[in-house]
Amino acid sequence: MAQRHNVVSLSGGKDSTAMLLMLLERGEPVADVVFFDTGWEFPEMYEHLEQLEAFTGLKITRLRPRLPVDVETDKSPFDWLFSDMPVTRRGSGEIHMLGRQWPNAKIRWCTGYKRDALHAHLLALTHRQNVTLPLYQCVGFAADEQYRLGKNAKRDNSYCVKRYPLIEWGVTEADALAYCYKRGFAWNGLYRFFSRVSCFCCPLQPLDELRTLRRHFSDLWQRMLVMESWLPENRRRFKDTTVSALDARFAAEEVE
Ligand code: SF4
Repeated sequence: MAQRHNVVSLSGGKDSTAMLLMLLERGEPVADVVFFDTGWEFPEMYEHLEQLEAFTGLKITRLRPRLPVDVETDKSPFDWLFSDMPVTRRGSGEIHMLGRQWPNAKIRWCTGYKRDALHAHLLALTHRQNVTLPLYQCVGFAADEQYRLGKNAKRDNSYCVKRYPLIEWGVTEADALAYCYKRGFAWNGLYRFFSRVSCFCCPLQPLDELRTLRRHFSDLWQRMLVMESWLPENRRRFKDTTVSALDARFAAEEVE
């Protein structure tokens, strides 16, 4: 039987980290480990990736969003997309604003860039010699997150099949975190503060975790205020408010 080629989608959090380590522990082949770098990661995440590479001996492929070739900017790709990208009206092609602004539950433009970069990379992998198709794209949904499968599960195609190893093995989120801790992966304590450790500035994270970010990671919170300042005043919607309004609210709570 041809060898299965697993490609690990690594967010860098506890679930995908545990998935990678468990695949290796079970002796399953891992053809590639792919991480999409938004540039909005916690600094601890970059340290974690290095620790993971040293532990596994594998090189993690870092993908980044591609910008149009004529763009010259000092900003990181996501910062440019967030605040400077010309956004055109559908149909007319007329530029009606600069910047995609903060994502929200309905318009998660950021995840679209992630998905597209990953698909392009998977397609490129299929052209490598000695790769057996289909590739198995391993996604780190935990056994208690089956609700996340939704439409995702149906998006297989002829060259790539999605696989959910933690669900196959019945590994819950708590199991995954305990497993990582046991192997020395602790993200410098981030999981003591946050339930997820994706983009520090994600507007989709719970309000309480934003409060925690302001209190314990003030440099990142200040970065969010700077990011907000790049947007015109009428396009600063973050959740149902703005970052500066949240800043004032959290500050007031602290003196109560
Ligand atoms: S974590 Fe939030 S901001 Fe980051 S890519 Fe995902 S939805 Fe976008």
